[in-house]
Amino acid sequence: MKENRIYNFSAGPAMLPEEVLEQVAAEMLDKDKSGMSVMEMSHRSKVYQNIIDTAEADLRKLIGIPDNYKVLFLQGGATLGFGMIPMNFATTGKVDIINTGVWTKKAINDAKLFAEVNVIASSEKEGFKHIPSLKGLKFDKDADYVYICDNNTIYGSKYKEYPDTGDIPLVADMSSCFLSEPIDVKKFGLIYAGAQKNVGPAGVTIYIIRDDLLARVPKHPLPAYLDFRIHVSEGSMYNTPPTFAIYVCGLVFKWLLKTGGLEARKALNEAKAKVLYDYLDHSKFYIPYVDKEYRSLMNVTFRCATEELDNAFLEGAKKYRFTNLKGHRSTGGLRASLYNAMPIEGVKALVAYMKEFEDAHK
Ligand SMILES: *Cc1c(COP(=O)(O)O)cnc(C)c1O
Repeated sequence: MKENRIYNFSAGPAMLPEEVLEQVAAEMLDKDKSGMSVMEMSHRSKVYQNIIDTAEADLRKLIGIPDNYKVLFLQGGATLGFGMIPMNFATTGKVDIINTGVWTKKAINDAKLFAEVNVIASSEKEGFKHIPSLKGLKFDKDADYVYICDNNTIYGSKYKEYPDTGDIPLVADMSSCFLSEPIDVKKFGLIYAGAQKNVGPAGVTIYIIRDDLLARVPKHPLPAYLDFRIHVSEGSMYNTPPTFAIYVCGLVFKWLLKTGGLEARKALNEAKAKVLYDYLDHSKFYIPYVDKEYRSLMNVTFRCATEELDNAFLEGAKKYRFTNLKGHRSTGGLRASLYNAMPIEGVKALVAYMKEFEDAHK
């Protein structure tokens, strides 16, 4: 890392690969001999069309997205998806949702505006410390889709296997784990992710949608921006897309391809998370939040015995310029997000500080 850069453990917006930032800087005044930055460019220009087409092609190659899935780059964050997905796809009016925290609760609230929502499992009583068991889950055979949040950014929990929903499409919010490991797209009817956690700058949300879902016609006509079919027919260009954010995501896709793809990325992410989890498991001072078998590779949550110690920990972290280690406002405690661009050296440096703090306070 460049000397003046810091380890930023933010849950999002989060660190981006330095190589990508450097390329953005190098191209800032003149992208591909256009004489302008991507920010200044018409989204209808040839140069820009090439940027978005290349981004989509690279994403398809990186994940291995089958041809019967469309890729969209839209605005509104994953939050718009909470409502837009039921608006478009809850066509017969029934949706099954597994409740694993704040992000699925928001999805439940929005889906209720358009459908009868059946919460088929929930870990709320246990403080969302685990993913509910998938054994014996009963899906409504008439459900339009089953909805999950793959990686629960706030609690640090992650699905290790997905529910087998048979013919019912599975819809997943992958905002905080997208591109952290390989994705078997065939298992899903729809995958979506806000970019600012693991993929790029805020402002763009990526959707991967199977054709048969798009063939469903909503009961009511929808406002144009809220109709996925319009975005598909216009190639994410119905209106001005988040041009700069898509460009940076495209560079991140190239970086991921160049560094070995998603299998290699997963191995790196596992190695990073292991450094921190191994330390947590050996420490009697820090208390990990999530049940072991559901631990996220991306968001590691823990706390000290008291809130005062948590606050002292955050204060002490300033000496090393570690930032954004505070847990989400709904849970408190501490959280270290280790997205793709966090180097393993950052995790090792954090653990060294944790040890120093533990020795001083135990
Ligand atoms: C951050 C996050 C969201 C919300 O994303 P916005 O881009 O702020 O709308 C939704 N789901 C998950 C899993 C998240 O981590």
